[in-house]
Amino acid sequence: MSRFRIGLLVTVVVAGMAFVLLSVDLRPRVEYVEEPEEEELVELLPPTAYGINMEGRVMEEGRVASGATFGDLLGKRGVPSNTVHALVELAKPRFDVRRMRSGHPFAFIRSEVPGSVPSHFIYEVDAVDYLVFDLGKNPSVELAKRPVVEEEASLSIAVTGALYNDITRAGADPDLAMALSEVFAWTVDFQRIQKNDTFTVVYSQQHVEGRPYGRPKVLAARYTSGERVKVAYRVEQADGAQYFDADGNSLRKAFLKAPLKFSRISSGFSSKRLHPVQKVMKAHLGTDYAAPYGTPILAVGDGVVETAGQTGGNGKFVKIRHNATYSTQYLHMRKILVKQGQRVAQGDVIGEVGSTGLATGPHVCFRFWKNGVQVDHRREEFPSAEPIAAAQRPAFEQLRDSMNVRLDEAVAEAEKARLIVF
Ligand SMILES: [Zn+2]
Repeated sequence: MSRFRIGLLVTVVVAGMAFVLLSVDLRPRVEYVEEPEEEELVELLPPTAYGINMEGRVMEEGRVASGATFGDLLGKRGVPSNTVHALVELAKPRFDVRRMRSGHPFAFIRSEVPGSVPSHFIYEVDAVDYLVFDLGKNPSVELAKRPVVEEEASLSIAVTGALYNDITRAGADPDLAMALSEVFAWTVDFQRIQKNDTFTVVYSQQHVEGRPYGRPKVLAARYTSGERVKVAYRVEQADGAQYFDADGNSLRKAFLKAPLKFSRISSGFSSKRLHPVQKVMKAHLGTDYAAPYGTPILAVGDGVVETAGQTGGNGKFVKIRHNATYSTQYLHMRKILVKQGQRVAQGDVIGEVGSTGLATGPHVCFRFWKNGVQVDHRREEFPSAEPIAAAQRPAFEQLRDSMNVRLDEAVAEAEKARLIVF
């Protein structure tokens, strides 16, 4: 067929279509007949609350007052005491009603008839679990759960100020900033992040009835500061999740188990113990390692000396900041061998064992800080700092590559948004 013929054919077809369209559009409506109203096909469901049909019923909502008991709440509303006792017993396998917490929401459901005794009591254990107590002739207790939905999302932000604020402004849960600071605890110094550094993250977040539930989980993250790029990939392992860099090395560095090579624990971490000098019950927020005078005290991890000084109680002491999450403190030294601001490596000798301050004999009181709170380091779970196992490597590389695609997409998405804004 020649080009001319094809052109002609197209013209004819288009003209024909235009004619049909025009004739349809222009045809005048002769008369208007009102159509009979169609019956609503959607069945009107009666409203429910906590899975209970609310037709002819009303709900009273409240929060457990401090000191209020299960018996008080029910008794006050006319529920017979034998029903209360039966419910306490019925609840026991799943919930001890004495564990009802003040401030938690509760609800009573009753008939619309004024002054009627409630038919149901609901207690919200947490955002997911709630208990439905049937207060009728055959009392029963049911533990119900709201559905938890887990969704994955990604985000790329340029730092403008505090990471926390930047993440909130981007519409994500501010806890994501906390999660990122933990993932990068050993590889990014959060006190030194600069304007226009970027964080890109693929994460998952659980929701209950549209509200974020629990901490967001970082699946992969990338931090860029000029030429410097730090990455993290989450791998689920038998003993919990761990983060690795692109080469499969663990992002975590293990701490030394103790600040002394050879020692014995003379007093453990406890919330209550008899103070050996003051002879009063006091929390002991550290672990005491007894050793002869002059024994070298070692930094349990890389870090910067935050304090090297002396107080009446601590004696001569050193505090090392390892990263945004962890700091350690070493008390009662005979001699301090580091200066404030000095960078130290794991295993460096920072002082000598002594008994300065409130101490009965030579020892190191070792204190471990996590997010500003003193914790028992022997109870903390530090996953291994081993690289990805050889058997896991192919799966890891596949995961890493697919996460890289998603991180790139998030960056591109953010770029596009930036171009539109300016
Ligand atoms: Zn101590």
